[in-house]
Amino acid sequence: MSRILFRNANIYTPVDPGRPLAGAAQDRLAVYADGALLSENGRIVAVGPAERVLAGLKSAVVDREIDCGGACMVPGFVDPHTHMCFARRRESEFVQRIAGTPYLEILARGGGILSSVRAVRESSEADLTARTLRRARTALSLGTTMLEIKSGYGLDTDTELKMLRVIRAVDEIVPQDVTATFLGAHAVPEAFRDRPEAYTDLIVEEMLPAVARQGIAAACDVFCEQGVFSLDQSRRILKAARSHGLAVKLHADEVHDLGGAGLAADLGAVSADHLLAAGDDNLARMAAATVVATLLPATAYSLKKPFARARDMLARGLAVALATDCNPGSSFTESMPFVIGLAVLGMDLSPAEALVGATLNAAYALGMADRVGSLEAGKQTDLLLLDGQSPAILAYHSGVSPVTAVVKRGRKVAGDAIG
Ligand SMILES: [Zn+2]
Repeated sequence: MSRILFRNANIYTPVDPGRPLAGAAQDRLAVYADGALLSENGRIVAVGPAERVLAGLKSAVVDREIDCGGACMVPGFVDPHTHMCFARRRESEFVQRIAGTPYLEILARGGGILSSVRAVRESSEADLTARTLRRARTALSLGTTMLEIKSGYGLDTDTELKMLRVIRAVDEIVPQDVTATFLGAHAVPEAFRDRPEAYTDLIVEEMLPAVARQGIAAACDVFCEQGVFSLDQSRRILKAARSHGLAVKLHADEVHDLGGAGLAADLGAVSADHLLAAGDDNLARMAAATVVATLLPATAYSLKKPFARARDMLARGLAVALATDCNPGSSFTESMPFVIGLAVLGMDLSPAEALVGATLNAAYALGMADRVGSLEAGKQTDLLLLDGQSPAILAYHSGVSPVTAVVKRGRKVAGDAIG
């Protein structure tokens, strides 16, 4: 048994009501100035004002006491949407894009998502694991203690399974919890060009049963978009995924309003992601069905597009989560502090709303809120210390990471603020 007492911290945490914090409730945090947190075997036993936590301790022995020096303490970040399992960066394509080359021309030159598919198919499992590990470790140093990683650069059964094995291997190596999402429906591969229905058949009849049989993914995602997968194809894939026991989620209404947000509500998805073009009616249906709206402001930033309408979504009673979308094409960042900064300064979220979006609501978007997402008794001791007085430091001190210590299940895994 290992008991650790964290003292002298300025604690900010969402309070989990058993569902995502939506609408006005997303702006509420519990704050314990001079707070303390007691951890036992990697789980939180008590948290609150120091005198209350210490009184509850009575004569029980504490193995270690950590003075946080008055630092701000928040839950570890949860990143619920990443594509960080990829082989090659696309830096030259970025240079073409910012010089004004249209995406279709980049595709014609052999760039775009299908170039990532070629690179992943050609790379060995060991190489892909090493590259993904580096990105997960960067995310850890920036405070991400749980993350999702998607497949979706294989687009054939063998390579999709290879990616999911890599994601599982990464989960076993890094301190973070890593959840795997099967995204065979990320794009229509070249071999099925102009035959998306036939590729949809392959996903439903071959890929999904293989993924389910091996038990190596927790969720299934679809890129529901004009020219990619239609609403009907998305529905078919996600219903099949659900019948295999996978949680379902969508890349919904990023460019065109196809109704992906409404489909997410119909299917009881854990989240619908992007939503830049989602219509009001479908947003209202998402709110009624408690589907988390996962917003990816680093993608809008990198593509120089307007941000998603986060304030409208909150006004409609939605719960907003934040994610990096870390990928080689449209958003190459592992940094949740950067995403929080964009959410505050680009989407007008308050620092409290952004913190809830990067912790508790993100945990709900992964179906993991029973374990992580807030500093409360019973959850894992996943916490961060920040070099600032409040979570506002994450947006205020831009371009750097104010994360000075990362603790995962009670163990310090990054940073130098505590010994
Ligand atoms: Zn994505």
